[in-house]
Amino acid sequence: MTRFLASLMLCFSLSSTAFAEPALRVLTTFTILQDFVREIGGDRVTVTTLVGFDEDAHAFDPRASDIRRLRDADLLVSNGLGFDPWIDPMMQSARFTGTHVVASSQVTPLERDDEGHDEPGHEHHHDGMADPHAWLDATNAMNYVRTIAAALIAADPAGKSIYEANEAAYLAQLNTLEKDLRAGFASLPPSRRTVVTPHDAFGYFAHAYGLHFLAPAGLSNEAAPSAAAVADLIRQLRELNVDRVYLETLADDRLIQRIGRETGATVGGALYADALSRKDGADTYTGLMRHNLKTLTAP
Ligand SMILES: [Zn+2]
Repeated sequence: MTRFLASLMLCFSLSSTAFAEPALRVLTTFTILQDFVREIGGDRVTVTTLVGFDEDAHAFDPRASDIRRLRDADLLVSNGLGFDPWIDPMMQSARFTGTHVVASSQVTPLERDDEGHDEPGHEHHHDGMADPHAWLDATNAMNYVRTIAAALIAADPAGKSIYEANEAAYLAQLNTLEKDLRAGFASLPPSRRTVVTPHDAFGYFAHAYGLHFLAPAGLSNEAAPSAAAVADLIRQLRELNVDRVYLETLADDRLIQRIGRETGATVGGALYADALSRKDGADTYTGLMRHNLKTLTAP
């Protein structure tokens, strides 16, 4: 009898979780945010993303079907800080009436010229322009997660205990990640701390983990560096004896390959910054960060 009751109750609980309509339809601007929402929302939400795996948010051009997806969403999560500025006209076109949460709203932004150097590729940036790539510091990622969890709870108060439990479990994972990043980069020799990547995505990452990134292109993949900027960068790399340069999955490899040839630096593999990927285990945020750690600390 007890067993019968238990299995009956199991039946009911299965039907109420597995077959129920998700409480919220969430749309995110890019894959990192989608991953955060999936971690916190679990089965209680459906979450899709405008800019997909291995796609470049800087170059996103919304289609009519994207406008329709936005119109149908209950909650929109964007990055802010100028990463996904196309969302504002999209919200107008879609006459979006749901809730919009900016995931970076509680993060302290880094100014692009934070380091104060006249680094190659930086001259086209306006003073005071914020660097949008805040998620590449795991502490900021935790901040994003808290902001997103609060938004999910506000939009769906009945799911509060579920969201809070998922949030706590995921924050614990991010905490472990942060410790591993700090420990991993602490052992990197000084000669390996200057890192060359195609686009200037790693400001927060550098700031958090004690590295120094140089990029021939600017904050987005779209700005092409001038010949003088590239020559400057090559001269700087020779002075610093930089022995390794890195590729980035969404960027054009040719310039980095050329810089490698001209400085004698080895090409040390591809880093991920602006999108999750089906490759290299970078299909989750923690996977992406661990891949970058492994690549940058490889012997
Ligand atoms: Zn970027």
